[in-house]
Amino acid sequence: MPSVPDTAIHLAGDTYVVPGLTNAGYIAGLGIDTSEDESVYEGVPLELLAITHGHADHFSIAHILRDSGARVIAARDDAAMVENPDINIRGMFSWAKPSDKMTTKLFRGIGCAVDGYIEEFNDPRATAIPLPGHTLGHHGFLTADGVLFTGDALYQRELWEQHPLPYAIDPGMVVASLERIRGVPCEWVVPAHGQPVRRTEAEEHIDFHITQVRRTAELLLHGLRDGMTTEGAVAFISRELGLVENQAVYWLAVTDVKGYLGELLGRGLIEFSVRDHVGWWQTVR
Ligand SMILES: [Zn+2]
Repeated sequence: MPSVPDTAIHLAGDTYVVPGLTNAGYIAGLGIDTSEDESVYEGVPLELLAITHGHADHFSIAHILRDSGARVIAARDDAAMVENPDINIRGMFSWAKPSDKMTTKLFRGIGCAVDGYIEEFNDPRATAIPLPGHTLGHHGFLTADGVLFTGDALYQRELWEQHPLPYAIDPGMVVASLERIRGVPCEWVVPAHGQPVRRTEAEEHIDFHITQVRRTAELLLHGLRDGMTTEGAVAFISRELGLVENQAVYWLAVTDVKGYLGELLGRGLIEFSVRDHVGWWQTVR
């Protein structure tokens, strides 16, 4: 009987990375997220599965692993999205029902019942670290062996080519979470998408991510000096960052740009008004 998933890469002590479309973690019977391939978990002891956040690519086969006996935990704020991915999909479209074409495939998947909350997680194998911003309940996990699984809180430099506007609901929280990652004493940093890197190397990825978030905010602040509609702001940022044009990317950009608008509004840097039933945003002079 194998004791770890057969594609697992050893990082330190009992901590392994299970590579996949989403990198998962495996620490002596504790799983962190899941890869998409259930066969690698065959015969592997897994009694607890912690989900970093409520996006379907992070719990793609959780329901299968739960059927085989794993207890599944998620953060309070994300648990409903793990149990029912439709909640996230509808949230993206102000709770109305979007078409499949409008919805990224990363949000679509099979839900999994949640048995407990990460907030109550108390385990010698790992510590949960709140890293909100990508979602409200997003958490990372620091294993006892000094490996930090960051989920989608950190995007490595290489990913920005493909995703110049990575999904986030609150850029202020994203930056605060990146600073929290920087402060975690660890040997390895494992993002859900990308490669495990040593702590020292992670530093430049953190800096790069923060720089990109600040740059997008600056871009928007500058673009809004003569006022723009919400639709105009989405189009402006999408063009400036060179996003691919399709329905799913458009709707993700709507959320992202609203994230920036809400944050700049909260900081008093822009104003919102409604004129002729159209919403306008303008930089405060
Ligand atoms: Zn995600």
